[in-house]
Amino acid sequence: MSLAELQQLCAEEGMPKFAAKQMCDWLYAKQVDTIDAMTNLSLKARGRLKEIAFIGRHTPVDCQVSKDGTKKYLFEIENLKLKSEISQERASQDLNNFNFQFSPFNSKKYVEAVYIPDGDRATLCISCQVGCKMGCRFCVTGQQGFHGNLTASDILNQIFSIPETASLTNVVFMGMGEPMDNLDAVLGATEVLTAPWGLGWSPKRITVSTVGILPGLRRFLEESQCHLAVSLHNPFADERLDIMPVQKAYPIADVVALLKQYDWSGQRRVSFEFTMFGGLNDSTRHAAELVRLLRGLHCRVNLIRFHSSPGTPYRTSTPQTMNAFCDYLNSHGIICTIRASRGEDIMAACGLLAGQKR
Ligand code: SF4
Repeated sequence: MSLAELQQLCAEEGMPKFAAKQMCDWLYAKQVDTIDAMTNLSLKARGRLKEIAFIGRHTPVDCQVSKDGTKKYLFEIENLKLKSEISQERASQDLNNFNFQFSPFNSKKYVEAVYIPDGDRATLCISCQVGCKMGCRFCVTGQQGFHGNLTASDILNQIFSIPETASLTNVVFMGMGEPMDNLDAVLGATEVLTAPWGLGWSPKRITVSTVGILPGLRRFLEESQCHLAVSLHNPFADERLDIMPVQKAYPIADVVALLKQYDWSGQRRVSFEFTMFGGLNDSTRHAAELVRLLRGLHCRVNLIRFHSSPGTPYRTSTPQTMNAFCDYLNSHGIICTIRASRGEDIMAACGLLAGQKR
């Protein structure tokens, strides 16, 4: 809950307004996990809070450790059926011209978060939905269909309930789900992370990714100062549609046109994620079209090696091809880097999150 939501709760329960600030301090600065620990609230207030509220901490039910130090945490999500019903109703309003995938409610109620230590940085890649509606053909999460939205509390729990919380330098919303399709919860979570009454992080420490859901993206650009990462993967509309159904409703050209209306020379950055598939999107023709598409936009491109997974027909690009693609972009004025791959041996790398219990 935000400070404003806690103030509302205090008003409803006849508690003094300053108790909301005290609760924020216990929840976010001290990060206590019981209401009893909030010792500067009156006994009566604590008793009432225990009747109507809970802290919302759930420790991960599993952790897999990669040989490179990456850790994949599995969280169980409670009350998912209710959330799914709400999401389904909203989704049909929001995305009525986009034929997304829905799965029947079943036992799948897990999400994953991936902890990636790297020198003096430690990044946590978190999830915002159970499964995903977007159905990107190369993504294990996308092939599961959609099972429900996480709440802001479920999202924050991934950050607060791992042993490495205090060492985190960055959070990226690049796990399971599409952030712009669950934007209220994502913005609720980023507000807690960045507000002075919350964790007080700079928004520069947070990156939110999207395949380019335009209504959500427009709102995000107005309301958030966090970095943005757009999953691009192919600059040609027809070829992108083959791997990303979202292209039909929200063409990448429209997404880039919207982004060009904003100033990206300040603190907030936009990057484009480009997963490289052998023989599919890694030619000079693709590099040239990417340069044409992004011309005039202050941005960077991250190349990601495709991680082959069971059932996908796609191949990995060779290191030589990736280097040549990267050099082409850099020599044509677009800052481009090849992202190191992490946690592949524990199915924790990009596009491999399945949210399944061992
Ligand atoms: Fe969803 Fe992202 Fe996977 Fe696409 S790549 S299906 S948006 S989780």
